[in-house]
Amino acid sequence: MWMQIQREQLLEVSQQLVNLGLNRGTAGNASVRVDSEDGRAGFLITPSGLAVSKMTPADMVWMDFSGDAIGALQPSSEWRFHLDILKNKPEMNAVIHTHSMFASTLSTFRCDIPAFHYMIALAGGDSIRCAPYALFGSQQLSDGAVLALQNRKACLLGNHGMIAVGEYLEKALRVTQEVETLCEQYLRALQVGQPYILTAQEMLEVQERFKSYGAWKQAGSEKEA
Ligand code: 13P
Ligand code: ZN
Repeated sequence: MWMQIQREQLLEVSQQLVNLGLNRGTAGNASVRVDSEDGRAGFLITPSGLAVSKMTPADMVWMDFSGDAIGALQPSSEWRFHLDILKNKPEMNAVIHTHSMFASTLSTFRCDIPAFHYMIALAGGDSIRCAPYALFGSQQLSDGAVLALQNRKACLLGNHGMIAVGEYLEKALRVTQEVETLCEQYLRALQVGQPYILTAQEMLEVQERFKSYGAWKQAGSEKEA
């Protein structure tokens, strides 16, 4: 039952990524941590090379942490970084990868995004790192991504796109949207000149403020933004 719900949610998020203009065609992929029906630890991942418009919940592939897949279709070619990220970040349960316009464009410069805007803190620190370029689907790409994601919820992949993570799919989607917005803002700023960069102290203050940010936290309500 839970597995079926997760299959549906993974498809739903993949459709949202297309509807929000964050992915097109067969670009990008997503995964969510879920144990198999017989209790093995693993995750569901979108199938490889299939347009989201053609995907059904049954097409989602289940994989364990040794990389063995169960499903009629091939798992995303990026299963290595989904597996490694979920393994390395036990508190995170969802991973999203996009070739969204602004993140992908910025990634071609292979440089980290500095704290040009306070919302950078949403990704967990005072920068969004860019992992070195490596062939899609390779272990080298995965190794670079895991490093770039240390203490972070998002990173760019050189000459490729971005990865965002979250405690659950909806949260990972929120990080994806925010990072794409930041990438657009940074690119636009760079067209004018060199933006001011916030100091480490200013970013620490933002991190601190974020801890109590959100109506649900103050009111003790269940509602999350
Ligand atoms: P998949 O279709 O295999 O998920 O690949 C898309 C992609 O984004 C590769 O980096
Ligand atoms: Zn990709």
